[in-house]
Amino acid sequence: MNTLALLGGDPLIKKKLQPYVVTGREELEAVKKVMKKGVFSAYIAAAGDSFMGGEGVKEFEQKAADFFGVRHAIAVNSWTSGLICAVGATGIEPGEEIITTPWTMSATATSILHWNAIPVFADIDSDTFNIDPLKVEKLINERTRAILAVDIFGQSADMKALHEIAEKYNLKLISDCAQSPGALYKNNYAGTQADIGGFSLNYHKHIHCGEGGILVTNDDYLARKLCLIRNHAEAVIDSNEAEDLSNMLGYNFRMGEIEAAIATSQLNKLQQSVKSRQDAAKQLNEGLQSLRGIDTPLVGQDCTHAYYVYGLKIDLKLLGVSRNKIVQALKAEGVPALMEGYANIHRLPLFKNKIAYGIKGFPWTSSFYKGEVDYELGSCPIAEDLHQNTFLGVLLTMFDFNKTDTSYVIEAFHKVWSNIELLRKL
Ligand SMILES: *Cc1c(COP(=O)(O)O)cnc(C)c1O
Repeated sequence: MNTLALLGGDPLIKKKLQPYVVTGREELEAVKKVMKKGVFSAYIAAAGDSFMGGEGVKEFEQKAADFFGVRHAIAVNSWTSGLICAVGATGIEPGEEIITTPWTMSATATSILHWNAIPVFADIDSDTFNIDPLKVEKLINERTRAILAVDIFGQSADMKALHEIAEKYNLKLISDCAQSPGALYKNNYAGTQADIGGFSLNYHKHIHCGEGGILVTNDDYLARKLCLIRNHAEAVIDSNEAEDLSNMLGYNFRMGEIEAAIATSQLNKLQQSVKSRQDAAKQLNEGLQSLRGIDTPLVGQDCTHAYYVYGLKIDLKLLGVSRNKIVQALKAEGVPALMEGYANIHRLPLFKNKIAYGIKGFPWTSSFYKGEVDYELGSCPIAEDLHQNTFLGVLLTMFDFNKTDTSYVIEAFHKVWSNIELLRKL
């Protein structure tokens, strides 16, 4: 009965776990209303009221601004678009640098390249997986324009330290909180502590409206720039207006009315859905803590964690077995949503080979860029070791992870751990 499924035994989890679904009647009713009205987007790329979008978009933005406690919430059609707006709004010049983390989704870093600026990667903290402020400070030079921190997996980066650095060197601070809506940092919502923050509303994120994103800021000037970049800036700027016209290449990053209606319904449930992930994480913590060689997630004193990902570290030396064998064994027992490593963005071919635009190394080889950036192996040793060897994650927003299902997952870990000797010999 205790034979590993990997070795031909019965899998501990026999049926597929329930998917995580937060969508219900509220979304259906909200979408019906939009369908009846028959206007699915009410944006116009010209000065006037419709420049800021339709009724549903405006309602969602108002709700989001109230919820997160910010002056401005600005809806976009994805968080990738949101990041591009945010970087552009800083007024960045081609060849300037933004310091970010390699432990994130690629869009964090590519948003910088979209403005012909250069991403520089600072290594992460091995306990929280967030960007390490000490490493950030070491990378600052006269080209540095901003810090783009990521509240990875659902927990805020060390915003106090990052703020101090940003202030000291006169840098803008952007927070990619794609994975952390509803998480708190010193009793404020993640994302609201930066010059510009924001969230993804994509599938598997805490709020899922199809595709979408929401920017948050307390800065009126930045908010105006974000809105301009979102909607074909140059089309509406009156040349007599005393505007800052840099980075005003227009995009269409506009959210539609159906997505806005769904997102509004989901925002009402955000606290409840974050709580449900926190409950699952708590249960996992309690169930896994007795296993040797496994570190459950560390939650900082100033933080609550939204648990988009439940991130573990395994002590391979102590266990004497590779992560891959453990993952294979857990998968065979039916544990879903496992992440064997996460991301080393600096090692993507795009960066490694510096082939963002064409094949001639632009923007790194451009005469606008006076620096030399290191994307080599060894430049972010902690993120590299975690990715290659010791990080094991569970994507908590993929499956329901109700009490029963989670207890099966815990049992599966125990089963694998009680067979570690055997795995070692495989
Ligand atoms: C999902 C994600 C993004 C991109 O968001 P989209 O809405 O999918 O464009 C950016 N950064 C991080 C950290 C993410 O997890």
